[in-house]
Amino acid sequence: RAKADGRNTSRFFEAAMDAAVEERRRLELDLRAALGGGGLEAHYQPVVRIATGAIRGFEALVRWRHPERGLVPPGVFIPLAEETGLIAAIGARILLDACRDAAAWPDPDLIVAVNVSAVQFRQDGLLRSVTSALAETGLPARRLELEITETLLVEDSAAVLATLRALRDLGVRIALDDFGIGYSSLSYLRKFPFDKIKIDRSFVEDFANPSTAAIVRSVVGLGLQLGIAICAEGVETREQLALMEREGCTEAQGYFLSPPVPAAEAAAFAQGARTLRAA
Ligand code: C2E
Ligand code: MG
Ligand code: MG
Ligand code: MG
Repeated sequence: RAKADGRNTSRFFEAAMDAAVEERRRLELDLRAALGGGGLEAHYQPVVRIATGAIRGFEALVRWRHPERGLVPPGVFIPLAEETGLIAAIGARILLDACRDAAAWPDPDLIVAVNVSAVQFRQDGLLRSVTSALAETGLPARRLELEITETLLVEDSAAVLATLRALRDLGVRIALDDFGIGYSSLSYLRKFPFDKIKIDRSFVEDFANPSTAAIVRSVVGLGLQLGIAICAEGVETREQLALMEREGCTEAQGYFLSPPVPAAEAAAFAQGARTLRAA
């Protein structure tokens, strides 16, 4: 009996694993097709200066319009793209789209922020795709900001620092994204002069917790001393915005101000009043 059960169970698991492998393979093929066709696009979420409500720039967020599944969020396909090596091509595509869109915005001070995954960063060619995207679109380097995460910094490699410095030498801005959720250590801030720290949404959400508030305060304090802009991510309510302002964050981003919007809508934002004061 036990033996038969065991056999059935293992057959069940094998079938489930086959299905998962098959599903993954299909998703990978679809992703390759999307890269070739027009299935990938950048949406843009405004980043606002808290003091004035003025739009500082936009963060590009990749979207995959799948023919049958609809909009697939990056949380689903970025990990797959990293495992399959497709991330380099996807990253280069979004980078070029973002630079082209930003170059067409009328305000010459608006920044476009592009996420670079740790896997993509470590591959050869990042510097080359940044240089060629800037050259091809004419976007000044100072208007491009690359968002990297702590995952990239924990390994503490000389190669990573060298690439960061080379990007910095081009004039590109570097932001530390999702600050606080990784093996967060303030010592990273000594190793490289970041232009911006983005405090992870989970800290904004959990601010009522005294230890969370204490961490946010120390990061903001350090940022102010080092002249680093501090952006609060995932601001969903008026109260959170007021709180982050009171704590000294200089910028904010979140559904309360605006969700990510398609490129045409971002262009309209960039053209309009250019402020998103929370009414
Ligand atoms: P992220 O860089 O931290 O981007 C912020 C995420 O929070 C976005 O999710 C955004 O839509 C979401 N968000 C913004 N405001 C709010 C809010 O008020 N509440 C909540 N609950 N969420 C908010 P999204 O677009 O699903 O992207 C998820 C992650 O995928 C990004 O996190 C980033 O790590 C990665 N990603 C997105 N686009 C790209 C890309 O082009 N390249 C790479 N390598 N990674 C990307
Ligand atoms: Mg980001
Ligand atoms: Mg973020
Ligand atoms: Mg985040």
